[in-house]
Amino acid sequence: MVSPHLSWLDDVRPNPYADQLALGYRRLRFLRPLELEYRAYMLRDSAELKRIALVFALIVWLTFVVVDFWMLAPPLLYGVVAIRLGVAALLVVCGRLLLLRRHTQRAVLLSLACIGCMGLGAAAIIAIGHGQNAFFPYEGLLLVCIAAYFLVGLRLIEALTTCVVVVLAYVLFESLAGLPAAQLFNNLVFLFFGNLIGAVGCYLLELKSREHFLVSQLMRVLADQDSLTGLHNRRSFNRQLTRLWRQAQREQVELALLLCDVDHFKAYNDRYGHPAGDVALQQVGVVLREAARRPLDMAVRLGGEEFAVLLYGIGADEARQRGEVLRQALELLRIEHAGSQTAPVLTLSVGVACRRPGEGVAMTSLFEHADRALYEAKAFGRNQVVT
Ligand code: GH3
Ligand code: MG
Ligand code: MG
Repeated sequence: MVSPHLSWLDDVRPNPYADQLALGYRRLRFLRPLELEYRAYMLRDSAELKRIALVFALIVWLTFVVVDFWMLAPPLLYGVVAIRLGVAALLVVCGRLLLLRRHTQRAVLLSLACIGCMGLGAAAIIAIGHGQNAFFPYEGLLLVCIAAYFLVGLRLIEALTTCVVVVLAYVLFESLAGLPAAQLFNNLVFLFFGNLIGAVGCYLLELKSREHFLVSQLMRVLADQDSLTGLHNRRSFNRQLTRLWRQAQREQVELALLLCDVDHFKAYNDRYGHPAGDVALQQVGVVLREAARRPLDMAVRLGGEEFAVLLYGIGADEARQRGEVLRQALELLRIEHAGSQTAPVLTLSVGVACRRPGEGVAMTSLFEHADRALYEAKAFGRNQVVT
């Protein structure tokens, strides 16, 4: 059951982001392909945060050396400082790897290693400290856990697992160091509730992060989509054309544009009604989508009953053929159009242009040539392809 404030999602489904929003994700998990996309997005999104957190962690970690010198005496002090420096060295190595951007894929692993080692190091230092000084602070462990929940951009399951391992190690180390059971229990109660607060906060944060991901990705898709046919809209077309024009220039290949206009569509609306006209446009959309199946091709609804197909790396002859296939495909659907002066069925006029981007060839010329060809297709009697 979709909650009332999400009922608008029904208008844009099926769409993976909208489907997942409607389905919910209280267990902090999306359906498989989306889950992978979210993790990749999070990796990019939290890369900077991870680097800042690492520098911050290093500073805090080394600051505590002051406490060590204050509260401990040799030879235990030397052991503690050795652990501190060992963990600090690991943070520096991980920091270097994180700064090299090619290790972004391993950022989660590196963050877990840093947090885990800081946690284990802190647990060991605290246990050693308690062996000598009953007032040695154990709360430092909470700082590590809070950092895991809030600072590094980890998912709840990652942060929680790390913290549980750290607290278990702490129990083990303190038992070995001989901390009285009552004091250990008291410390554990604090650690438990501290972690509980951290985990709940982290859960709510991840819930919001996932919602933000779904909504922003959905908005991105909708902003580029024609709502009636699901094809790309003019905005998306303009952006893709600019990008492909540059790419075609680099790769020295041609770009073809097929401008399509449904024939006598006003008469179709007048005769069968606007809703039937909408259904017909959707059928045209299906035909166009079939014509643009390769990754760099795109089918667009430019507006009204005007469409376009952009084909990458295709010369004039093949472009013309593809236009002809398109025209025939719509004719073969045999959508009755008794009001047409051209044929008893709905038909399409297609203007084809083909350009090789380069010196002295403006991008706008592709559109202008296709538009002129379409104008001629109309003038020559419609239901035809003109190059
Ligand atoms: P031609 O063969 O010269 O292209 O004639 P035409 O009637 O197709 O062209 P015209 O530009 O005169 O009319 C286009 C019509 O398309 C008018 C408009 O009502 C209709 N139309 C535009 N957008 C939509 C839409 O979203 N849904 C429906 N049902 N009709 C639309
Ligand atoms: Mg028309
Ligand atoms: Mg028109």
